[in-house]
Amino acid sequence: MKNEIIITAQGHKGTLERLQNEFSAVKLWEAADRDAALKAAAHMRGLAHFGHSKVDGKLMDALPKLEIISNFGVGVDQIDLDAAKKRKIIVTNTPDVLNDCVADTAIALVLNTLRKFPQSESYLRSGFWPTRGPYPLATSVGGKTLGILGLGRIGEAIAKRAQAFGMKIRYHNRNKKNVSYAYDADPVALAKNSDVLLIVTPGGAGTAKLVNAKVLDALGPQGYVVNVARGSVVDELVLLRYLQEKKIAGAGLDVFEHEPKVPAEFYTLDNAVLFPHVASATAETRKAMGDLQVENLHLHFAGKSVKTPISS
Ligand code: NDP
Repeated sequence: MKNEIIITAQGHKGTLERLQNEFSAVKLWEAADRDAALKAAAHMRGLAHFGHSKVDGKLMDALPKLEIISNFGVGVDQIDLDAAKKRKIIVTNTPDVLNDCVADTAIALVLNTLRKFPQSESYLRSGFWPTRGPYPLATSVGGKTLGILGLGRIGEAIAKRAQAFGMKIRYHNRNKKNVSYAYDADPVALAKNSDVLLIVTPGGAGTAKLVNAKVLDALGPQGYVVNVARGSVVDELVLLRYLQEKKIAGAGLDVFEHEPKVPAEFYTLDNAVLFPHVASATAETRKAMGDLQVENLHLHFAGKSVKTPISS
């Protein structure tokens, strides 16, 4: 008999197929009556989660036999980890398998933001080249200092790539690491010492609006922000104002506070490069994330230790 799981939301197609083939699955997002569906699933021990919807204490209470929440993605800011811990529910995520793709995207944002490649391409496509002449000069990447806010698994992969582009690396974490990069004691100092402030911390309450007016003031009018973490880590309206008033030079953003809604004022900015949360979005990486999500569920149901638990 197949083990039973609840799937919370629509997610990566191949992974959903695996989950439905290998488990007896309830698709919560398709239930006409969510409360009734949860009641019918109250005996179930496993939950597979996709996306940004909250997995909170209320949902956990509706599933009193729940033993494991297996998340698709490394970020677990949408899951109440304290509530899970209290109920002795294991939470797993999908770290490492996405480091390379997310780091590639971060570097793409650095290059595109400083060099304005998307804007210059749109200049050509608009037919301006013959009439208005060459596209205005941009900013070099080599020799600039990249300040990484959150030098973890992905941050280290970004640092390696950035060094190959001739960038100098600094970082800030709450805990200093045993690495050769220069350390700054807080985000303001990091911003002050960097040309590009690259954000790759987790989201959630601990990092909410960590990058605020003080940090952006320290970065200054020649400085750039790149965010591949979560929209919540930046004070988005302050960032928008600083871009509009040219109090910073530019921003490259993969994530937004209320995505997929993005404040329309961002669309018209010439000094911002905007991606629709695509950092890990390749067929290979999404498959690897799904495989890890499924593997954690199988391991747990087989009475074995899961591969990638969150330690909270
Ligand atoms: P890690 O846990 O390996 O790294 C996170 C780093 O952030 C750690 O070095 C940690 O160090 C630091 N950090 C945590 N809190 C703070 C804080 N308050 N101030 C300063 N530094 C802090 O995670 P990953 O590298 O695997 O992933 C990082 C995040 O990237 C994910 O949580 C996710 O939100 C985001 N992400 C975004 C993707 C996208 O599609 N755009 C895709 C994948 C991930 P310390 O604990 O010492 O402070």
